[in-house]
Amino acid sequence: MKDLAPFLVQRQQQHLYRSRAVSDSAQGPLIVRDGRQLLNFCSNDYLGLAAHPLVREAMHKGIDQYGVGAGAAHLVNGHSRAHHLLEQELAEFTGRSRALLFSTGYMANLGVATALMQRGDHILADRNNHASILDAALLSGARLIRYDHNNADHAAQRLQGLRAAETLIMTDGVFSMDGDIAPLMELASLAQQQQAWLMVDDAHGFGVLGEQGVGTLDHYGLSPQQVPILMGTLGKALGGAGAFVAGSDELIETLIQTARSYIYTTASPPAVAEAVRAALRLVQAEPERRSQLNKLIRYFRAGAAERKLPLAESITPIQPLRVANSEMALQLTAELLKHDIQITAMRPPTVSEACLRITLSAAHTENQLDRLLDTLAELPGLVRTEADAS
Ligand SMILES: *Cc1c(COP(=O)(O)O)cnc(C)c1O
Repeated sequence: MKDLAPFLVQRQQQHLYRSRAVSDSAQGPLIVRDGRQLLNFCSNDYLGLAAHPLVREAMHKGIDQYGVGAGAAHLVNGHSRAHHLLEQELAEFTGRSRALLFSTGYMANLGVATALMQRGDHILADRNNHASILDAALLSGARLIRYDHNNADHAAQRLQGLRAAETLIMTDGVFSMDGDIAPLMELASLAQQQQAWLMVDDAHGFGVLGEQGVGTLDHYGLSPQQVPILMGTLGKALGGAGAFVAGSDELIETLIQTARSYIYTTASPPAVAEAVRAALRLVQAEPERRSQLNKLIRYFRAGAAERKLPLAESITPIQPLRVANSEMALQLTAELLKHDIQITAMRPPTVSEACLRITLSAAHTENQLDRLLDTLAELPGLVRTEADAS
């Protein structure tokens, strides 16, 4: 039995030790922790739906009808009318034949890669992809080929001269840590040339990007033919929990037959599906949430440029601020906390270089952004560069 203490000590010395903060309130721009009210800039509740009255009400009603637990896996008897309707609504919303619910996004990625790929196949993946895509690729047994971040040319080069039975290209739509958007037009043509599958994990684009909030594919105007596999999560902009894969009838039926992370797990509570259905109705009925979010993103970037803050290039609600190293990231978050502002330090191995991952929500106000900007501008140790003022 190995001694775990040295590992933990080393993590601490490298400023990579992780710990959890305990909240006592709902998600929103203001959260309560240790009796203090904090201004929150690290939630993925981009549209302010996680605690919305209609979403709460839908969940209460769902509990009244279905109780709490689903009781079994979908293929046993855990698949409720609530799940079924949500799948139909997600298929319609994304303009695809079918959608399949998974209990988490992590499991959706595992399910797709393991159902479609095997030894002898290739998975082509962006280096900055979410950890769940990496794990999915490894678990599938296919050969994993990683290409430089957002570099479709490099992806094409990496495929040259390689022969695979099947190839699957997997990418985040909006990168979860960088906030930038994948070059999907280029990746779609590469996929077409290679007769490869293309799968987009749109955890951070779904509900946020595109005129209707359908996500990154909507942003580019890409069709289901160009991107046959779409994965979206329901715990971020949709404010609930879970995920879905949308695509053709054959794809979904194949996943139902073979995706182990779908088959061998209890269905998520039907009331959660009811809550997500209500959130999806709000995404469709209230496009002003997206306009407000985009307005706040522009406001924040303009304010950051004025103050010469080293923001990364991003038009999404994920606005990472570059910092020198993990130690500095921790110091800055501690300093921000003294000002009642909560931002999480992202450190290796989650990211290759430490950053403060700031996330904005449609529920923030300009005043709250001003408070963040003014506080950041006064922090000692934040790298400022002229080149970043864009
Ligand atoms: C959050 C996230 C996931 C995992 O989704 P969960 O529902 O939280 O398990 C997968 N992919 C990306 C890009 C994510 O950001």
